[in-house]
Amino acid sequence: MRCRNYTWLNYSVGAGALSEPPITFCEERQLLLERVGEAVSQIIWLQSERIAAVARGEMDLSSLDDAIRDANAEKESRKQAFMAHVWEHGC
Ligand SMILES: [Zn+2]
Repeated sequence: MRCRNYTWLNYSVGAGALSEPPITFCEERQLLLERVGEAVSQIIWLQSERIAAVARGEMDLSSLDDAIRDANAEKESRKQAFMAHVWEHGC
C-alpha cells in the first residue's frame, strides 16, 4: 500500500517529464523522523545535565539515570514507528 500522505512535488506533465521519477515527499514520514530527532536531542540534553551534575559533585544521579533510560526507550519506540511506516508505505 502506498502512503496516503504522499505529496508529489516538482512533477509536471510535459515533454520528457513522465520518463523521470517524480520527487516525492511524505509528510507523515517527515513527522515521524522529526520525532526521532527530538527524542535524540532529549537524550543528549539529559546526558549533558548528568555530566554537569557529576561536575558539581552530586552523588544521587538516580533521577537523571531514570530519565535517560526513559528517553532511550522513547527514542527506540519512535524509531520503530518510523521504520514501520517506511516499511508499510514504501516511502
Ligand atoms: Zn509515508
